[in-house]
Amino acid sequence: MNDKFGHLAGDEFLVQAAVRLQRCVRQTDTVARIGGDEFALVMTNLTKVEDALEVAERFVGAFAEPFAIERCEIAGATSIGIAVAPRDGDVPHVLLRNADIALYRAKQAGPGTICFFEINDDKSAHERRALQRDLEFAIDRDELFLLYQPFFDIHANRITGFEALLRWRHPVRGIISPTEFIPIAEETGLIHGIGEWVLRRACATLSNWPSDLRVAVNFSAAQFHNTGILQTIVQALSQARVAPHRLEIEITESMLISKYAPASSILTSLLQLGVTVALDDFGTGYSSLTYLLKLPYTRIKIDQSFIRDMLRRPDNAAIVKSIIALTRDLRIGVVAEGVETTEQLDYLRQTYCDEVQGYLIGRPVAEDHIFALLHQDKQWSTPAA
Ligand code: C2E
Ligand code: CA
Ligand code: CA
Repeated sequence: MNDKFGHLAGDEFLVQAAVRLQRCVRQTDTVARIGGDEFALVMTNLTKVEDALEVAERFVGAFAEPFAIERCEIAGATSIGIAVAPRDGDVPHVLLRNADIALYRAKQAGPGTICFFEINDDKSAHERRALQRDLEFAIDRDELFLLYQPFFDIHANRITGFEALLRWRHPVRGIISPTEFIPIAEETGLIHGIGEWVLRRACATLSNWPSDLRVAVNFSAAQFHNTGILQTIVQALSQARVAPHRLEIEITESMLISKYAPASSILTSLLQLGVTVALDDFGTGYSSLTYLLKLPYTRIKIDQSFIRDMLRRPDNAAIVKSIIALTRDLRIGVVAEGVETTEQLDYLRQTYCDEVQGYLIGRPVAEDHIFALLHQDKQWSTPAA
């Protein structure tokens, strides 16, 4: 609110929210604001646990109506976590912490969700906190590394570049997948440091490759909330002495609707700089087509879920064919992700897809395997009729 409409509007929003909250509770209850957008309600003398649920449902209902602020209608979404004494703790700080843990699960499940604290929450919260603590030192302890997965141009019959994929070598738990630790990095803000490390490392590696290859780097929405991001990218490029057009930034469709949606001004500046931008996991987001037209994306990556089933499911094949046709009309590039079989590759060749990526061409490999991959015999040439 503050970022979009200014502090006065932010204050007005809080006042209105407070009024709505107060309407839902009894005189004897206490409502408080305990953080930027977090509120606590303390209720005593409840006859049964279900009463708490009833109040929580009233809260969710109270926020369903949009707020009128600065002549705009603003939708508020609530998530609620509930802890009950003495069952979930009998001192204030434990109760608050456990309500917060339940809130975390509610947030994960989407807006409007109400969750009671469960003992299992405590365990997973514990693990998450431990992982979070370790992640803070991962860069300094040199535990992060990148693997590179090739892009293959079907018609030119050559490798055109690599996508950098992050890994964490945890001293006790072994290799941890980015799907597990990137969300933690995003929540804690560690993503800024990690993202910068990935960018620098990828550009440094790229500087050793033939100049007709590119490197693609995945970005999290939160990274675009950092105003220095543009400068970081420019610096990484100039330090590694690589031309901007050899760096590709991958952003997902769902990022475009997140609260950290990259300002189109940042994306436009990147494109002006010569950096290319690819729309990742295409087809899994929301209003794909509108977003496509807003910016001159360089490339679209068709999500692997469509490729996986396209030869078995005509509807998936139809989607793949249409996306490829669309990119041709819009004159942007297209990559099919997750290609695992020669049959899939042949089908994509027939539909005039530009590039493919997937286990068939190559799994993600360490930096020192790249030259071997580039010089191996080309196995993917057009099959004889
Ligand atoms: P993504 O960008 O969609 O990356 C593609 C994922 O599919 C990779 O998983 C890759 O190993 C896997 N993959 C590639 N080809 C095939 C195939 O033929 N079959 C199958 N079944 N899978 C294939 P990975 O490396 O586990 O990465 C998962 C996700 O983590 C990535 O999805 C990306 O969103 C995120 N990620 C990875 N590195 C970074 C990073 O440096 N920064 C950020 N923000 N996110 C990252
Ligand atoms: Ca990607
Ligand atoms: Ca993808």
